[in-house]
Amino acid sequence: MEEILKQLPQKAKEKHGENAKFFTRLKKKPPKNLDYTMRELHESEFEHTDCLQCANCCKTTGPLFTDADVVRISKYLRLKPQKFIDDYLRIDEENDYVLRQLPCTFLGADNYCSIYEVRPKACREFPHTDRKRFYQISHLTLKNVAICPAAFTIVEKMKKLMDNRL
Ligand code: SF4
Ligand code: SF4
Repeated sequence: MEEILKQLPQKAKEKHGENAKFFTRLKKKPPKNLDYTMRELHESEFEHTDCLQCANCCKTTGPLFTDADVVRISKYLRLKPQKFIDDYLRIDEENDYVLRQLPCTFLGADNYCSIYEVRPKACREFPHTDRKRFYQISHLTLKNVAICPAAFTIVEKMKKLMDNRL
């Protein structure tokens, strides 16, 4: 896994132009069964992906925290929401709450998440490859393929499956 993660940014860089063009075509003419196909691709890839061997998302990119995330997690940690915000979060350029530091404070040395049951919605949904109307998050996916080996493979499979239909 270490070697895969080391090579991933370069591999994603090499595919960036091709991926960007593909997503432009996808947005113009999304196939009717896109949501179904993405769910299938996502589920089949994650069936044999062991995120505990990876945790690259938790190490290199943090989630954003919604207000509901802050309330739920601070309650779990028995902290006042404002204390949780002061201790762990900052506001980014897009005015969202994000982690103060990376790797994520809640990630253990064994790659387990210490707040797994109440983790942010963005963590639960990452890398969003089963999202409905997937073409709407292509800007995010272009970044995520450099972070997440599963997302990289899903996009490669997706191109093979759909390219001739767009
Ligand atoms: S979601 Fe992707 S980046 Fe995160 S741990 Fe799983 S495979 Fe790795
Ligand atoms: S909250 Fe948990 S799942 Fe989310 S980035 Fe931190 S360690 Fe990973």
